[in-house]
Amino acid sequence: MDVEILTVGTELLLGLTVDTNGADLGRALAAAGIRVVRRTSVADDQVQIQDAVRSALERTAALVVSGGLGPTRDDVTKHAVADVLGKPLRHEPDVLAHLEELYRRRGIPRMPEANRSQADVPEGATVLTNRWGTAPGLWIEDGAGRLVVLLPGVPAELRGLFEHEVLPRLKARLEAAAPAGPAVVRSKVLRTTGIAESALADLVGDPARLIGPSLTLAWLPSYEGTDLRLTAWRLPAEQADAALAAGAEALRPKLGPYCYGDGDADLAAVVLDLLAAQGAHLAVAESCTGGIIGQRLTNVPGSSRVFSGGVIAYDNDVKMHVLGVSAETLAEHGAVSEVVAREMAEGVARILGAEAALAVTGIAGPSGAVPGKPVGTVWIGVSWREQVRAFTHVLPGSREAVRRRAAQWALDYLRRIVGGLM
Ligand code: AMP
Ligand code: MG
Repeated sequence: MDVEILTVGTELLLGLTVDTNGADLGRALAAAGIRVVRRTSVADDQVQIQDAVRSALERTAALVVSGGLGPTRDDVTKHAVADVLGKPLRHEPDVLAHLEELYRRRGIPRMPEANRSQADVPEGATVLTNRWGTAPGLWIEDGAGRLVVLLPGVPAELRGLFEHEVLPRLKARLEAAAPAGPAVVRSKVLRTTGIAESALADLVGDPARLIGPSLTLAWLPSYEGTDLRLTAWRLPAEQADAALAAGAEALRPKLGPYCYGDGDADLAAVVLDLLAAQGAHLAVAESCTGGIIGQRLTNVPGSSRVFSGGVIAYDNDVKMHVLGVSAETLAEHGAVSEVVAREMAEGVARILGAEAALAVTGIAGPSGAVPGKPVGTVWIGVSWREQVRAFTHVLPGSREAVRRRAAQWALDYLRRIVGGLM
């Protein structure tokens, strides 16, 4: 079964509200085996909504709408949909009684007059009781088998109504359409880092030959790396899982040392597990990353068994007096240099008594570039069982991008060194 999603709200087009409802609906529908074929956003404007509803019904014949069901004059979704379907609005005394009861329970004896309009329901629609707020949802089917589901915009109300009222009805509709057994839309993610998306594409080659015709492959780059998402569309659950497992197995060898896990694997957690398996402790000395690595490590529950702590060595005085970086080294090579990265890693490993240490020093920008060291220049020191190695990169992007990428590289070097991959 295919559906479209329509999110209504001028605030969405102005960018003042992020369309989380569209994302929530997309995930929930995919999990139920329903393919979302288009997602549209329009303003709180009757003509725009009518237009969007009409074309969605012509294309796909099934539509889930969010927003514009409130009691105020800018909430026009219901009128627009009733109009397109040719179903006049009728006043429903039961719905009104329910609304009045909601207000009484909240200790407000008189319901505001504006709420009365929420009891107007398109003829033949099923009212979906909203236990999370006032605006009821509506399930509207017409003689031609077309379906429109209307849900309020408030995210918690939308999620509650979708899960408890819409999903069971959609499942029944799916069952009726395909009695052989429900299909699912399922994904499996392989996570990579330390390689550009395009270089990774070269390694993978033609994905269709690897993963077969029943799966699609999506490339999802971010500052931290590139995720490869395999998706099985509308297969029975067991077949989907088998196809995903086989696809991942075929893909993984191509990704070599760049793949650090699957699903929602977190690189910091992977590093902590590797160190825990060796009974080792980790210390960090962070200059340009200013604590990002420490935060990523401490985000992982149970990290204290491995992570000893760190020094935010931002000022050269801290590099010298806390970590023991030599004044001559700093004067001769500058703070962003191989020798300083090495001395920082050695120093923090020594003072915290850790078998593993990471150090990062760099120019995050936007200012601070010097001849030979452009913005983005980063040196990473990795100390592992008293062997120190250093690596450099010129990282692209904003200050945030440089800092996040530097933290990711540092964690990844440690993963590869402790894991025996380099
Ligand atoms: P409405 O049902 O259109 O009156 O929306 C009520 C509130 O829900 C709005 O003020 C927004 O804060 C929020 N909202 C509406 N649509 C969305 C959406 N697509 N994603 C996230 N929040 C939304
Ligand atoms: Mg609205």
